[in-house]
Amino acid sequence: MLDNLGSAIKKGIDKIAGAVFVDKKTVESIVKELQRALIEADVNVQLVFEISEKIKKAALDEKVKGVEKKEQIVKIMHDELTELLGGKKQEYKLDKKKQNKIMLVGLYGSGKTTTTAKLAHYYEKRGFKTAIVGLDVHRPAAREQLEQLGKQNKIPVFIDQNENDPIKTWKSFEKQLKDYNLIIIDTAGRHDLDKELVKEISDLTKEVSLTYSTLIMPADIGQIAKKQAEEFKKSAKVNSVIITRMDSTAKGGGALTACKEAEAGVFFITTGEKVNDIEQFNPSSFISRLTGMGDLEALLEKVNSAIDKQTAGKLKQRLEKGIFTMDDFYQQLESMQSMGSLSKIAGLIPGLGKAKLPDNLLGTQEDKMKKWKFAIQSMTREEKQNPELIEKQTSRLQRIAKGSGTTSSDIRALLKQYKLIKDFGKMGLDESSLQGGKLDQKMMQKLAKKFGKKIRL
Ligand code: GDP
Ligand code: MG
Repeated sequence: MLDNLGSAIKKGIDKIAGAVFVDKKTVESIVKELQRALIEADVNVQLVFEISEKIKKAALDEKVKGVEKKEQIVKIMHDELTELLGGKKQEYKLDKKKQNKIMLVGLYGSGKTTTTAKLAHYYEKRGFKTAIVGLDVHRPAAREQLEQLGKQNKIPVFIDQNENDPIKTWKSFEKQLKDYNLIIIDTAGRHDLDKELVKEISDLTKEVSLTYSTLIMPADIGQIAKKQAEEFKKSAKVNSVIITRMDSTAKGGGALTACKEAEAGVFFITTGEKVNDIEQFNPSSFISRLTGMGDLEALLEKVNSAIDKQTAGKLKQRLEKGIFTMDDFYQQLESMQSMGSLSKIAGLIPGLGKAKLPDNLLGTQEDKMKKWKFAIQSMTREEKQNPELIEKQTSRLQRIAKGSGTTSSDIRALLKQYKLIKDFGKMGLDESSLQGGKLDQKMMQKLAKKFGKKIRL
């Protein structure tokens, strides 16, 4: 049931969770995948376009950064898809103290009779005293089918094999039905919503004083559901929809979104031939279930756990623009100190999360970090922006060492470390290699070769 849409959403969320920061390229690839899946599910192309634009716009909104941005994208994706499928959950509002009457209408073979039994069984289990009335008087086999279903599920079925007028049939049962507080009525279908069918439904609607008139449509009709729902709403006054055969088509997305467009609330979907294969339709949990995760909270949780909130913004800054100045480095030193150990920050350096680093790189280096902070404080603005200047001019290096109470070799070590981190950023440690927050084998080899035993703090 819409498996491809589910896996596209899943992939998208994994991509967002695994990315250090979500850039335009990532968003575009997620949106592309989603588009493909939605179109495959038969969702209207215009709607697909609109939802894509909304996700892209939210993703590229510069005001929101870091992890909030990731949350925002996942939330928008979830909310927009939910909206696309109808938004808020809609359901029958039934009062056990009164008699509720639900009539199922629709074209031939749409699933009216089977759904009548499913609904009756569903509500019987929920404490309603339920009866089924068969008003498909045109086909003798229809009444037998209903009788069978009633027997199997121990629900009383009211049919009259000898009466071919649905209104008369209904009237003849009215008294006996008094004891029941929920009546599900099966009706006849046609190939089209022709005049005859409209008249039959209208007459019944007037006579029966229905609580709900529900249109039954099979999922495999896809986007045509929109036109059909609109027509039935207009001429047969239906106020609710059940989509059947969700299990047997990839086009279910079309039928569901089409109903939303027709402003016809989908109350239930059916997902198989057995009497239990019916469920209330809740767009939000439907989407969540497609993704295999509990709910929106669970999705956000996944995104949040992938990277530390505080540092995400800094990493974004640093890598996105390819800029990493001494000020950034200083900030990093600060956060390292506040965290107490390098092993923790290593987990936040893109790609190093799960990689093994030499022990000496992870040792506590409090003194060194303090010295480096003093040294950076002694640099001019120009030097901080462009540390290569210090390397080129020994006079600058000496001045900084003197000003910060450190030695020239301390400054050289600082420059080396700074370059090392900057190179990490440059070495293609970008989105693709960072998916899932881990370095692959090849990247590790590349790093080992480049830095070998030179990594020293
Ligand atoms: P009606 O003509 O509208 O009364 O349609 P029926 O209730 O007789 O159903 C037509 C066919 O669709 C039957 O073979 C049903 O078993 C089948 N059907 C109905 N609902 C579902 C469903 O949710 N899944 C599947 N796979 N088949 C269904
Ligand atoms: Mg039928």
